[in-house]
Amino acid sequence: MTEQNISNLSHEDRVFEPPADLAANANVKAEVYEQAAANRVKFWGEQADRLSWGTPFTDVLDWSNPPFAKWYVGGTLNAAYNCVDRHVEAGSGDKVALHFVGEPDDDTRDITYAELQDLVSQAANALIDLGVQTGDRIAIYMPMIPEAVIAMLACARLGAPHTVVFGGFSADALSSRILDCEAKVVITADGGYRRGAPSALKPAVDEALQKCPDVTGVLVVRRTGQDVEWTEGRDVWWHDVVDSASKDHTPEMFDSEHPLYVMYTSGTTGSPKGILHTTGGYLVQSTYTFWGVFDYKPEDVYWCTADVGWVTGHSYIVYGPLANGATQVLYEGTPDTPHKGRWWEIIEKYKVTLFYTAPTAIRTFMKWGEQIPAEHDLSSLRILGSVGESINPEAYVWYRENIGGGRTPIVDTWWQTETGAHMISPLPGVTKGKPGSAMTAIPGIAAEVVDDAGKPVEHGEGGYLVITEPWPSMLRTIWGDDDRYKDTYWSRWPGFYFAGDGARKDDDGAIWLLGRVDDVMNVSGHRLSTTEIESALVSHPKVAEAAVVGATDETTGQAVVAFVILRESAGDGGEEIVAELRSHVAKEIGAIAKPRQIMIVPELPKTRSGKIMRRLLRDVAENREVGDATTLADSGIMDKITAGMKTAKDED
Ligand code: ATP
Ligand code: MG
Repeated sequence: MTEQNISNLSHEDRVFEPPADLAANANVKAEVYEQAAANRVKFWGEQADRLSWGTPFTDVLDWSNPPFAKWYVGGTLNAAYNCVDRHVEAGSGDKVALHFVGEPDDDTRDITYAELQDLVSQAANALIDLGVQTGDRIAIYMPMIPEAVIAMLACARLGAPHTVVFGGFSADALSSRILDCEAKVVITADGGYRRGAPSALKPAVDEALQKCPDVTGVLVVRRTGQDVEWTEGRDVWWHDVVDSASKDHTPEMFDSEHPLYVMYTSGTTGSPKGILHTTGGYLVQSTYTFWGVFDYKPEDVYWCTADVGWVTGHSYIVYGPLANGATQVLYEGTPDTPHKGRWWEIIEKYKVTLFYTAPTAIRTFMKWGEQIPAEHDLSSLRILGSVGESINPEAYVWYRENIGGGRTPIVDTWWQTETGAHMISPLPGVTKGKPGSAMTAIPGIAAEVVDDAGKPVEHGEGGYLVITEPWPSMLRTIWGDDDRYKDTYWSRWPGFYFAGDGARKDDDGAIWLLGRVDDVMNVSGHRLSTTEIESALVSHPKVAEAAVVGATDETTGQAVVAFVILRESAGDGGEEIVAELRSHVAKEIGAIAKPRQIMIVPELPKTRSGKIMRRLLRDVAENREVGDATTLADSGIMDKITAGMKTAKDED
C-alpha cells in the first residue's frame, strides 16, 4: 500500500512581481533557466569562468561512481586566492571587504581587500610555523570578528580543511567535532561580546582539549581582554605570531576535489554529521548563486546576519561574497544590544542594499513591533533574503513591508549544509514572489517533489523533496563514513538525493517547503506538515511565533499540539486566547488541523542557528523526559516550557 501524500492545506493568493528596473538590469534573466536545463553540465562548466584556475579542468563532471561526484576534474585552484588576492591584482585593493561592527558601541573596523590579503597571508604563515601542513584539519571556535574570516581563509590558503564550531556550543560539542575530524590545531579567542558583556570562549577550549590529546597548537585572538588559563608550549597569542609574520605568502593551487572544509550540521534532528565540501564545485556554486540570487552588483553593500559557525556563514559571508569581491557588514553581537533597533541602525549607517537573515529573526522583530524599524531610514535596501526555515507568509509580508518598504523582492532560499549553496529560490529580477514559497530550482539545479514510490506528484500535491541530478556544491561524503553518506541521502530512491524535507507543488508548479519529513504528523490518517499549521497560527494578529508537534492520541493516532509566542502588543492575549487560536486554525486551513492543545509560552527551544527543535517539544507534549538538548541556544528554556505544560494539564 502506498502511503497517503502529505496534505496540502494552505492557500495563499498574494503575489509580488519583480520591480521593473530590477528586472531590466538583472544579472540573471528568464532565458537562463532553459539554457541551463538544455545542458546542465555545460552551464556549470561556463560558471566556472567566474573563478581563477591554476590548471584548467578537463571534464566538468565525473559521475561514474555515484553518489560520489567529482566536479571540474583535473582543475586546480586556491579558494583564498579567489576570494582575496585576485581582487587586489585586478585593482580593487582599496575596496572595503569587511565593515566590521563590534557589539560594543563605536567598536568598528573597515578592512580593505589589500589589508585582507596581508592579514590572510600573515595568518597562513603563522599556521605554517605552528606546524600546519596541507591536508591537516583545523578547528575554529570564534566570535563573529574579522579574525574568524581571516582564519578560515588562511586555512583554505594552505589547503588545511577547517571545521568551524559555533562559538555558542559547549566544550563537549567542540571536543566531539575535533575528535571526529582529528583536528590538529584550534583557533579561538579569549571571548567575544554578547548581550553587552564579554562572553568567554577559551575555557571551553581548555576543557574540550582535555579529551583531545592530538591537538598540538591553540592560536588565541585577544578580543575581550578576559583572564585566560595558558598552556605553555600549546597556546600562542594571535598578536604575537600573526602580527609579526611575513605578509608574503604564495598560494599553492590545489586539486578541485581537495577538501575545503568539514561542517557539522546543526543537529536539529539528531547527532551531527561531518559534511565534507571540496574546493572547485563548492566555490563555483556559492559564487554563482551569490551573484545571481542576490543580483549582486559591485556597488552593493551586503549583510548576512548568520554566524560563521553555520553553513550560511561559510557560503554567504566568506566564500560567495568574497569570491565576488563584495563589500559586506560583519556584526559581532545580538539584535537587541544595546537596543532593539541595532540592526536597523547598522543598515542605515552603512547603506546596506542586500540583506540576508532568518525567519526566526523576522518573527522576533514582529513580536517587538514595527515601530522599531520605522525609526530608521532603510531606503537603501533593494533585495531581502531569508534562509533556515520556511518563512511564514505573514512574516514574509511583514518583512517586505516593514523592512523592505513594500519595494524589495524577497528571495526565500532553500538549501542545506549538505547542498553547500542555494538550490531553490526565486531570482529577484525574474521570479514573482509568493509569500511562503521558495518557488523554483535555480538554473542548473534539478529538484522534484515525489511520492512514496518516487514518482513526481501532480501540481497541487505534497510529497518529498529530492534533487535528481548532481550539482557542483553537493557534499562529497560524511567525513570518514561513506556508508552513512549513502544511507542517509541516497538510499530511499535510487539515483535521487533525498533532502529529508517535505514539500508541495502549487497549481503553477512552484515549490512550498513543508518542514522536515520526520516532523510530519498523522492525525486520523491525514499526514499533516508542521509548516502550514504554524503559518496559520502566525497569521493571527496576536501571534509572533508558533511550533506544532504531533503527540500520541488515543482517538486520532496523533493530535496536534501547538506552542505559541504572542506579540508584545497582545499582552497575555486575554482569557479566550486559546479558543480563539484553535478556531482561527480551523477557519484558515480546516478542522483536521485544529490543535488539541495550545500552550502560550515565553520562548521556544531553538538551535543556535535559530531553528525550532520540535523533537524536544514532542517530548514535552507526550510527557516524557526531555531528550538531548545540548545544541539548544538557551538550556533553561525547556524547564520553563515543561513547568507551563504541567500547569496547563492540571487545569484541564
Ligand atoms: P540537522 O540536519 O543536523 O538536523 P539542519 O537541517 O537544521 O540540521 P541546516 O543544513 O543548516 O541544518 O538546515 C537545512 C534545513 O533547513 C533544510 O533541510 C530545511 O529543513 C530548512 N530550510 C533551510 N532553508 C529553508 C527555506 N528557505 N525554506 C524552508 N526550509 C528551509
Ligand atoms: Mg538537515
